[in-house]
Amino acid sequence: MKARLMMVGAGLSGAVLARQCAQAGYDVTVVDARPHVAGNCHTARDADTGVMVHTYGPHIFHTDDDGVWDYVQRFATFMPYKNQVKTTVAGKVYSLPVNLHTINQFFGTAMRPDEARDFVAAQTSDIPDPQTFEEQALAFVGPDLYAAFFKGYTEKQWGTSPSNLPASILKRLPLRFNYDDNYFFHRHQGMPRDGYTALVAQILDHPGITVKLETVFDPAEADQWDHVFWSGPLDGFFDYKLGRLGYRTLDFELFRADGDWQGCAVMNHPDADVAHTRISEHKHFAPWENHDKSVLYREFPRACGPDDIPYYPIRLAEEKSLLADYVALAETASNVTFVGRLGTYRYLDMDVTIREALDLADTFLAARTAGTPA
Ligand code: UDP
Repeated sequence: MKARLMMVGAGLSGAVLARQCAQAGYDVTVVDARPHVAGNCHTARDADTGVMVHTYGPHIFHTDDDGVWDYVQRFATFMPYKNQVKTTVAGKVYSLPVNLHTINQFFGTAMRPDEARDFVAAQTSDIPDPQTFEEQALAFVGPDLYAAFFKGYTEKQWGTSPSNLPASILKRLPLRFNYDDNYFFHRHQGMPRDGYTALVAQILDHPGITVKLETVFDPAEADQWDHVFWSGPLDGFFDYKLGRLGYRTLDFELFRADGDWQGCAVMNHPDADVAHTRISEHKHFAPWENHDKSVLYREFPRACGPDDIPYYPIRLAEEKSLLADYVALAETASNVTFVGRLGTYRYLDMDVTIREALDLADTFLAARTAGTPA
């Protein structure tokens, strides 16, 4: 009899693992509590405007991993897309990520690259090994750019002072002394033409895979399967018995407009006296389509309650200690593997999620072939 695998969660991790295992001859059941596949990457056309909406906030695919890029091309047509984000500070619009244009706009100068480099270097603090977001910002851009572009946004995004947050969060963003305003520095960047839900549905489209939506898996039934992959919250598998791992969630305030409301896909709003962090105008995520009407999201981060959708793992000292306790528990669950953003409690980009799922599938399948319990 074919081995039966249970994949909890139909997001990117679950879909890729299911596909790889099904192709290797396994019988895979994928369940998801929500009425759609693709997890937080889910996209759907807005009935009023026809615009493809990123229901759980903007997702832009970018990677340096050729294997991952080739993999997603098998399941969807990707359209060229360059993420160019703007930001409004005290009533003026600037270019992001912080680049030569931003610096010249902000200081009212016309510096060339070397001049700007020296100018910024003169403002930065000499902090040899920055630990916190704030130290990293002061060492990276200095106090003025930090106060304008990062401090307020980060306080709203994370609900705490940047002096409590790790430097790694800011290290996601580049600082450029030229006019390159591409938010990402990866070689491959694009948007699935028909949305992420179609991409994930294609990955799941295999005779060895059965998908059951609006279905909640009971961890008590894990031993009824040859193996379970759990991409839900790690603490949720254990019924939160040690406490809850902290997340930030997002509230979206949807509004519609005629024509073009803000002229770009994402406008950040770092000012402390504005409650939202950014506004996304979804038709600009699909520049190859034409829409007269527009649909937008104002994005409000806040602490995630028990009934909210978890987005960003907080990962401060308190959470890390609780995480270590849950990881120890997870190691006792012999036929369960915890995967993905929620299953491993990490802030993962889509390409990394896919890479980890592909590698895990290889390890799992190789161990099974060799007869080792995986
Ligand atoms: N950030 C900021 N100002 C901005 C954009 C980002 O201070 O205009 C900080 C903020 O703390 C955020 C982090 O940089 O959490 C990473 O930003 P990114 O754009 O990668 O966030 P994401 O789109 O993943 O939410």
